[in-house]
Amino acid sequence: MKKLFDNHGREVNYLRLAVTDRCNLRCYYCMPERGIDYVPRQELMSYEEMLRIVSLLAGMGIRKLRITGGEPFVRRDMMDFFHAASSIGALKQIHLTTNGTVVAPLIPELKKLGISSVNLSLDTLDPQRFFEMTRRNEFHAVMQTFEQLLYHGIPTKINAVVIHGKNDADLQPLAMLTKDHPVGVRFIEEMPFNGAGANHAELWWNHHRILEELQRLFPALKKIPDPPFSTSSNYQIPGHRGTVGIIAAYSRTFCGTCNRLRLTPQGMLKTCLYDNGIFNIKDLVRAGASDEQLEHAFLDALGHRAKNGFEAEQNRFGLPVSESMSTIGG
Ligand code: SAM
Ligand code: SF4
Repeated sequence: MKKLFDNHGREVNYLRLAVTDRCNLRCYYCMPERGIDYVPRQELMSYEEMLRIVSLLAGMGIRKLRITGGEPFVRRDMMDFFHAASSIGALKQIHLTTNGTVVAPLIPELKKLGISSVNLSLDTLDPQRFFEMTRRNEFHAVMQTFEQLLYHGIPTKINAVVIHGKNDADLQPLAMLTKDHPVGVRFIEEMPFNGAGANHAELWWNHHRILEELQRLFPALKKIPDPPFSTSSNYQIPGHRGTVGIIAAYSRTFCGTCNRLRLTPQGMLKTCLYDNGIFNIKDLVRAGASDEQLEHAFLDALGHRAKNGFEAEQNRFGLPVSESMSTIGG
């Protein structure tokens, strides 16, 4: 089978699979309060369809799978899917991105399955601000998941979207989590994927401002080397066990080394977070496509891949970025 390379010579070995667009939170920066129009159930990829596609892509060089959503664990029998995906031999790593509201009791089983890491979304350590940002009262459930992840020694990153006027005061306490815990706390620039369109004319908390603020709070903050393909620029506060990262998701400083593909819950392939979807793989599967035909479709899509997120956004022909991140997976 041919390996996945794009027209810019970048090898693609990482798949982000959004297994559902449903979610039990209503994060201010991701969805409107009333929620979004969910994809009809029959339009979602079935577990069988997802497993076929993941196996095929693993044969083409995908080594790392991230399961995301929506909230992955609001989809029924999610654990069965994890078990099945874990048995795809060519996949070397399976990661999870979760809001942590319902997954705490499943952490021991995920550990047994050998999950590589978990990204836990947590924008604030203040229960009232948590409610204001997510419109749900689930702070304590998320903290329980955090404790379980630490207890079971699962490599954990905290994802915090930084929003002016909402969680500015949380940079310090979140960064302080790295003092006693071996976690990576990553501060993310807000993107316009909120189901409605841009929240701001200008992004206040861009990566420069986040860094300046962290340097003000922690004058000894040190730059540390970034792992290959890292989307975060990484730092450490001397003496702390964990690390602090900044993800310039809106400024898009990391596109040059992009090694990832995305599949939405309805099977749309995205070769860039900012593109409008290249083709629907589920439709091909349901039309009876052979493995060779699916393989060809992936290679063809990568042969026309945008160089970076700005080019991908331009190629949307005026369609603004406004879909909810819960339909993309982050
Ligand atoms: N529901 C899970 C969660 O929240 O972790 C997984 C899906 S969520 C869409 C994946 C990531 O996207 C989360 O870390 C979330 O903070 C981030 N995200 C959502 N909307 C965003 C936005 N408008 N800008 C930046 N990051 C966003
Ligand atoms: Fe749900 Fe995650 Fe979006 Fe929050 S960021 S509404 S938890 S999908």
